[in-house]
Amino acid sequence: MDDISRSNPDRLIQRLRTERDQLLTLLKALPDISFVIDEDGLYVRVIGGANEAMYVSGKGLEGHSVAEALPPTVAEACLEAIRTALRTGDMQTLEYQLRVDDVAVLTPTAREATQDGIEQCFEDRVLPLPGYDHPKPVVLWVAVNITPRKQLEQYWRQAAETDPLTGIANRRALFERAHSEVERARRYGHPLSLLILDIDHFKSINTRFGHARGDEALRCFTQACAELLRTSDRLGRIGGEEFVILLPDTDLSGAASLGKRVVAQTRSIAVADTSIAQTLTVSAGTASVDHGEGFEEALRRADAALSRAKAHGRNRLETDDTPAGPDEPEAPAD
Ligand code: GH3
Ligand code: MG
Ligand code: MG
Repeated sequence: MDDISRSNPDRLIQRLRTERDQLLTLLKALPDISFVIDEDGLYVRVIGGANEAMYVSGKGLEGHSVAEALPPTVAEACLEAIRTALRTGDMQTLEYQLRVDDVAVLTPTAREATQDGIEQCFEDRVLPLPGYDHPKPVVLWVAVNITPRKQLEQYWRQAAETDPLTGIANRRALFERAHSEVERARRYGHPLSLLILDIDHFKSINTRFGHARGDEALRCFTQACAELLRTSDRLGRIGGEEFVILLPDTDLSGAASLGKRVVAQTRSIAVADTSIAQTLTVSAGTASVDHGEGFEEALRRADAALSRAKAHGRNRLETDDTPAGPDEPEAPAD
């Protein structure tokens, strides 16, 4: 307190009012929305939310409680954060999802302004607000709509895991999944098998029909495979015309029977503007992950079986327990 304020209480009050108004203006101008909420979850005041693209007007919330306004699980988490902030004096952060349609007491205009009921993600901060003119202790609650950031994260995660040509898992995602499936199989003592698939003479498919039709054949092939899989199976593209299918809870004979179906189905794949039908074939090798074994070792054994399928004339499946066949004949020149 300076000398002028000490000697002139009116000046001091005036100065404090000005500072309060400045702070309020600051809060109002912030893009994010803030609430003053009391210990019972009553919305005492709604401030800010200047970014109308991200926040609907929360004015309708004043005088209502979080329990009235929000879905029960979100309301419970909010109350917990409010009480912890008031008890400990520490800032709490809270992340949750909410559809604006699910907020019960918004004004009709605010509701109309919502974006077709999509689930939005919020990352909120909750701080005790001492000395507020209200009969009960209150917190300052700053809600930050992080939906665009989450959508971007999801987009890049998806892009990093997906093969752009076929839309299935790429090599990296498939291997990551394989490692977690091996862990899971080990933990629960369940079988885990895999198929490795390599399209036959694909170079000559490209030569005969062109690279674009080759691409289309790869897309048709993955679609045909996907139709044969259970939801727990995972198909990935591990190379140009090479694929792996992970088969949780499947033993070697189950994997072999699926592999045979994939081989048979591939023969009937038709690709628009080509005479590819009956021409596209695939060779397959299958193995089960043995107890204590890693994915890479099982893949190596499945790959050895695939080499035998190629050597035995292609368009067929060989299993890891198949006796070794003759050496691979020379591949015909494309
Ligand atoms: P094999 O029966 O021994 O497997 O013979 P192949 O011709 O299929 O095997 P090879 O590995 O010699 O050739 C694979 C071909 O796949 C070569 C490459 O041009 C083609 N290829 C790889 N990726 C793509 C792709 O994304 N699109 C197209 N159209 N072709 C691809
Ligand atoms: Mg190949
Ligand atoms: Mg091939």
